[in-house]
Amino acid sequence: MRFEIVILGCGAATPTLRHNPTSQAVNWDGRWFLVDAGEGVQLGIRRHRIPLQKIEGICISHLHGDHVLGLPGLLGSMNLFGRTASLNIYGPIGLEQFVKQALKSTETYVRFQLIFHANSKDACESIMQWRDCTLQSVPVKHRIPAYGYIFDYVPTIRNIKKEAIRTYMLQRSEILTLKAGKDVLRKDGKTIRVDDACMPSKSSLRYAYSGDTTPCDSFIQAARNADVLYHEATFMTALEKTARKTGHSTAFQAGHVAKEAKATHLVIGHLSSRYRDEEAVLEEAKTAFVNSSLAQEGMRIRLNPQTKRTETYLE
Ligand SMILES: [Zn+2]
Repeated sequence: MRFEIVILGCGAATPTLRHNPTSQAVNWDGRWFLVDAGEGVQLGIRRHRIPLQKIEGICISHLHGDHVLGLPGLLGSMNLFGRTASLNIYGPIGLEQFVKQALKSTETYVRFQLIFHANSKDACESIMQWRDCTLQSVPVKHRIPAYGYIFDYVPTIRNIKKEAIRTYMLQRSEILTLKAGKDVLRKDGKTIRVDDACMPSKSSLRYAYSGDTTPCDSFIQAARNADVLYHEATFMTALEKTARKTGHSTAFQAGHVAKEAKATHLVIGHLSSRYRDEEAVLEEAKTAFVNSSLAQEGMRIRLNPQTKRTETYLE
């Protein structure tokens, strides 16, 4: 099982000499996804050796330019390099129209199939599933519709809680169903949920990505027990009012979200060029959540499901 996040861009608003706008690649059990595609995403992909044509899905958090303006060009390059495989693109309503219009206006041809999925505006939604992996979108609070994404790996073989056998009077066939990670639906219409009857999976992994947002409960709930939580930290506390007005978070708030969600490791990003001393931004996050790191282009975050250890490397 391979689970790796590669930061391609972690700056806010505009490209700077220090940071690219937001984008990251996720290698999830051998399958590649992009999360956001700000300007410069293609250079990040090249620089950090992400296999361009192996990218199967792109998750866009929202339609502000620093998260999406790299997408049309990226699709054009995939086409130029001969892509034939279809590509899933997840995001808010309006993303499809934006991409199609941008491609049309710039005469950028894409001969492979683009499959657009508009995320639910109201609730957390499972948008992709295969084997032991699930990808969810979660609505967050920004100035326009915006989403976080939750990558989960939960091995299906689960251990039954001893007391559950008695509590639910479980039959052998039901135990097998639950161990296989499936809920049991009984003839009386009652459902026995795997999470209620089984022990938490020891080697499960969760990566939670906030996108741009003020601190919000929906994200905290969805990100619960995340091994790695990536949260935006556009401002510091002195500008908390500005953060609220613009639909962003302070570094302290990002730390607080990680604490509330009982995450193991926090990485803060969407770093603003107004803060020359980024260590000060990190220190502020650490006052709420000690195990915090600053995102940086080229940072690779590897999660090991066996040891539950998170290792970060910088290229
Ligand atoms: Zn934004």
